[in-house]
Amino acid sequence: MATYKAPVQDMQFVLERIVGMEQRLAGIERFSEVSDDLVRGVVEEAAKLIEGSLAPLNASGDEQGCRLEDGQVYTPDGFPEAWRLFSEGGWSGLSQSEEYGGQGLPFVLSQVLMEMMAGANSAFSLYPLLTAGACEALEKHGSAELQATYSPKLVSGQWSGTMCLTEPQAGSDLAQVKTRAEDAGDGSYRLNGGKIFITGGEHDMAENIIHLVLARLPDAPAGIRGISMFLVPKFLPDADGNPGERNGVNCANIEKKMGIHAASTCVLNFDDAVGWLVGEEHQGIQNMFTMMNLARLGVGNQGLGICEAATQNAIAYALDRKQGRPLARKGEAATDTVLIAEHPDVRRMLFTMKAFTEGGRVLAYEAAASADVAAHHPDDETRQKAQDFVDLMTPICKAWLTDAGCELAGTGVQVFGGHGFIREHGMEQFVRDARINTLYEGTNGIQAMDLVARKLKLHNGRLINTYLDDIATFISAEKGNDALAFIVQPLGEALDGLREATERVREALGSAPDDAGAAAYDYLQALSLLAVGYAWARMARAVQGEDTAFARSKLTTARFFARRLLPRVHGLLPAIYAGADELMALPADELA
Ligand SMILES: Cc1cc2nc3c(=O)[nH]c(=O)nc-3n(C[C@H](O)[C@H](O)[C@H](O)COP(=O)(O)OP(=O)(O)OC[C@H]3O[C@@H](n4cnc5c(N)ncnc54)[C@H](O)[C@@H]3O)c2cc1C
Repeated sequence: MATYKAPVQDMQFVLERIVGMEQRLAGIERFSEVSDDLVRGVVEEAAKLIEGSLAPLNASGDEQGCRLEDGQVYTPDGFPEAWRLFSEGGWSGLSQSEEYGGQGLPFVLSQVLMEMMAGANSAFSLYPLLTAGACEALEKHGSAELQATYSPKLVSGQWSGTMCLTEPQAGSDLAQVKTRAEDAGDGSYRLNGGKIFITGGEHDMAENIIHLVLARLPDAPAGIRGISMFLVPKFLPDADGNPGERNGVNCANIEKKMGIHAASTCVLNFDDAVGWLVGEEHQGIQNMFTMMNLARLGVGNQGLGICEAATQNAIAYALDRKQGRPLARKGEAATDTVLIAEHPDVRRMLFTMKAFTEGGRVLAYEAAASADVAAHHPDDETRQKAQDFVDLMTPICKAWLTDAGCELAGTGVQVFGGHGFIREHGMEQFVRDARINTLYEGTNGIQAMDLVARKLKLHNGRLINTYLDDIATFISAEKGNDALAFIVQPLGEALDGLREATERVREALGSAPDDAGAAAYDYLQALSLLAVGYAWARMARAVQGEDTAFARSKLTTARFFARRLLPRVHGLLPAIYAGADELMALPADELA
């Protein structure tokens, strides 16, 4: 069976020495008490809870799945108890405002927690992810009355939250949402319609479920600008704020899925369901996006969690399984059977896993820490710069980390050989659980379009130009550092490639949009590899001159990344420049 141990040492290394949390958050009133010591304590406590309570439910939750009986969804054995422990420990409100009973700690810590949860039990991690999203939306856009009634109970985990966007005809294209809302004349609305694929839409872990629903008012303009957001509770709160009368929202079905079996994925029907407007009329998409953007970083961390889990299980197996003999050098006698970890090809797999996981962790935590700065720093310019970085990195963290989750889950199976294909080892569950992360919260194709069609253009290219310039500044500063040349030089070559690619994609956006659309995914991959390369260069610099097993591992993995993975950037460039001619040459009906 697969196991999970939180990589506490690496998490702390990234937070303290690469992200530099203490310095980064200095000057932010809300985080005045946050120190490296406090962060260390939180990370260690989280690790204990997750290793002890969530990891043991991963395989059993997958086997058992959720079941629907008379409209009630039952989660697998142990899940309600795990939710109780999670909530009572204050983990659901870790980074939520103290005003509503949260701990007010940095968002980046909630993302460390998300990585751990997803590595230990991906299905469970979805319930807190969606609940945090609902808290966020209410805090930013809800009326004082809605906040007073719902926020404290969502923050405490007594109640859970959902995001209800998708309908059968409205997936990536939310302009097609049809669910209707009508003003009831008493400050409330009545909602009618159906949503599909709603995570946590019904379950038995919390005493009430609070749905945030996209719907259309009768006078709404057509398309994306005519959608509003409503809060619809499963139970209407009574005069004391406790769950009262049952509302007209019901779970008609739960989906049978490829993975994350313990996360309920519900078809929800709204029949004259009572709801309240959140934010302004017709602003639903914009408001939903304030929470979706943070949720996208969260999904990236779900990908990262799977990268870590697959990697540590693969390494443990490779250090246990003996097969084959080393490739004999001329004149040497054959030796005994060795650990598979002694074979260069197995090492190739293990180093790829380590390089993507540890490099990806820097991307994820840096984006999350920047989100803290962007939300709370007193200085306008600092906030704006941090927001630019978050905006640029969101599609990269969401798409690249979740693609890496799939790739590494597959590599993990490969390290196990045929045993990886067998259920009891747990490696195939990672493959099944990882797959969803590339699909929801905007498919990875949509993330690539967001990067290319929105983020490259935003503020006249300021986001990408600033980021590429930051990397150039690092490279110039390290030019004389011979011990780092092994990575600084290829990083510079990759940077040159990305500068040219960025210009060409940007040009195509104006003159040949299909060419830009055709380049988008490969461009996202190339920029992500550059970003991970930059992360490895900084990790290598941080441990330069240290003689510990940790430092040796970092430096060797940095070398591996620089020589074997970073050059993939140059392989992607021809595809970025290829245009859309072949892709769009055939009429759609000739594809069949
Ligand atoms: C297990 C699970 C849980 C989910 N949880 C939730 C939830 O809690 N709440 C919720 O509201 N939804 C949820 N979803 C829905 C999920 O967000 C959607 O499935 C996703 O947004 C994609 O929509 P779709 O499935 O309709 O695919 P489509 O939009 O039909 O996309 C199909 C393909 O076309 C591509 N494509 C579509 N439009 C474009 C475009 N403009 N440019 C380029 N490519 C494009 C996509 O990238 C994809 O490859 C969940 C789905 C699943 C499977």
